[in-house]
Amino acid sequence: MGYETELKLFIDGAWRAGEGDSAPVINPATGETIADLRLASTANLDEAVHAAERAWPEWRAMDVEKRGAILHKAADLLRERAEQIGRLLTQEQGKPLVEAIGEVMGSAQMFDYFAEEAKRQGGRVLVRPTGQRSIVIPQPVGPTATFTPWNFPIYLLAKKVAAALAAGCTVISKPPEETPGCTGAMARALDDAGIPKGVFQLVHGVPDAVSRQLIGSKVIRKISFTGSTAVGKHLMKLAADGMKRITMELGGHAPVLVFDDCDLEKTLDMLVPQKFRNAGQVCVSPTRFYVQEGIYDAFAKGFAERTAGVTMGNGLDAASRMGPLANQRRLPAISSLVEDARAKGARVLAGGEPGDAGYFFQPTVLADVPNEADAMNVEPFGPVALMRSFATEDEALHEANRLPFGLAAFVFTENGRRANRLGDAIESGMVGINSFAISVADAPFGGVKESGSGSEGGVEGLASYQVTKAIHQA
Ligand code: NAD
Repeated sequence: MGYETELKLFIDGAWRAGEGDSAPVINPATGETIADLRLASTANLDEAVHAAERAWPEWRAMDVEKRGAILHKAADLLRERAEQIGRLLTQEQGKPLVEAIGEVMGSAQMFDYFAEEAKRQGGRVLVRPTGQRSIVIPQPVGPTATFTPWNFPIYLLAKKVAAALAAGCTVISKPPEETPGCTGAMARALDDAGIPKGVFQLVHGVPDAVSRQLIGSKVIRKISFTGSTAVGKHLMKLAADGMKRITMELGGHAPVLVFDDCDLEKTLDMLVPQKFRNAGQVCVSPTRFYVQEGIYDAFAKGFAERTAGVTMGNGLDAASRMGPLANQRRLPAISSLVEDARAKGARVLAGGEPGDAGYFFQPTVLADVPNEADAMNVEPFGPVALMRSFATEDEALHEANRLPFGLAAFVFTENGRRANRLGDAIESGMVGINSFAISVADAPFGGVKESGSGSEGGVEGLASYQVTKAIHQA
C-alpha cells in the first residue's frame, strides 16, 4: 500500500484545503516528496478560532457521559484503523511499522482513559459552623490551542486533545507539518465518532505564524506545547502577554545510572532497544549512561554487540528495527555532535556515520565521553548512546543532576534502599527504576527545570485543562 490519503484542514466540522502556501511532505526513508500540504491562511485560522468559541458553551454543558461516548468511539475507530494509520505514520516519519501501530493503539488508550477520568471529577464542599457553605468546583478552562511535534505525532496530539475534550474544552490543534496524513486520520476518527461541529479543529501552517495568531487571540485560554525548550520559552513569553495558562513538555537529556549490582544481561537487553526506539527521537530517550566502574567494560562491550544487531532500514520493511531520522535537518545535527565527541576523546564502539540514502544515521555507541562534549550537554535527539563510568552513588547522582534538564531518569540496581534514595534525589519529573514504562495514560508525565511546566496524563493532565472556582454561599 502506497501513501494514500487526502490532506485537508478540519475547521468547524468541515474538511477543506488550506488557503495558504503549500509545504512538501517527505518520506524520510527515501528523501522523496510524497505529497503537498496546503497550509492554513490567516483567515482559515480566524475561522477556526470563531468555531472553537461558538462550540464551547454547548460542549462544556454536554453530559460527561455523552462526551465520553464520543471519545470512546474515536478510540475504537483508531484501533480499527491502526494498521492503515500506522502506514501513513511510517511513511511520513520513518519509524518501523510495528512502532507506528503501537503508537496508534497508545493514542486510542488516551481517549479511553480521559473519557472515564472526566466522569470521576468532583468538587468539594466546605461546611461552616454558621451554615455557610463553600463549594469548590473544577470548570473547563476554555478554547485551547495545542502544538505538537513530529516524533510521536499521533500519540502526543491524542494526549492533549483527549484530556482537553474530556475536560469540556474546545480545541484547535496544530500538529507538525511533516506528518499531516496520520494526524489527519486522528481528526477523521473524531469526526466519524460524532464530535460536534467546531469542538475540534486541525490546522497546519508556518509554526511561528500559527502560534502567534492563536496565542494572540483573546478567545484562546490555554496553550499546550510539546517540543524543544527554545520554542517552549518563546511560546511561554507569548502566552504571558495574555496571561494564558500553559503546559510545556520540553526537551530532556535522560541519565541512566547503572550500578554494579544490577542484572547486567537483563539490563542490556532492555536498554539497547529503548535507546534506538524511534531512532532516539524521544524526549525521554535514555541518553547519558553512567556505569559503575566494576562493570563498565562489560557493559560497553555488551551494549556495542547488541547495537550491531539493530537492523536499520525503511520502516515498512518488517526486518527494520530502526528507521531514519524524521527530517533532513537532524542529520547534520547528529553528525556534528558525534564528530565533536570523537574530537574530544570519545571512543566509537558502534556506528558513527550517516546512511547512504534518505535521512539515516547508524545506531551509534560512544564510550568515555567527556562532559565537555556538546552531546553531553545538548539533547542529541538521535540514535546516539553516550557512556562514561562512575565510582560512587554520590558521583552518579551529581552527574544525573548536572544539566538544566529534568524530564526522565533511569536507575538500574537490585538495591532497594538505593532505589528509594535515588528516586527521591534525582531532579526529574519521572524516574524509572529497572523500568522504562514511564509514559502511561493514568500517571503524570512532565518535566522540571528547563524540561517544562505542568503535566500531561493522569488526573494532573485533566486538571491542566480546568480552572478552579470557589462559590461561597451564606
Ligand atoms: P524545533 O525547535 O524547530 O521544533 C520543535 C517542534 O516545535 C516542531 O514540532 C515544530 O513544528 C514546533 N515549532 C517550532 N517553532 C514553533 C513555533 N514558533 N510555534 C509553534 N510550534 C513551533 O526543533 P526540531 O528541529 O523540529 O527538533 C529539534 C529539537 O526539538 C530536538 O533536538 C528536541 O530537542 C526537540 N524536540 C522535542 C520533542 C519532545 O517530545 N519534547 C519533540 C520534537 C523535538
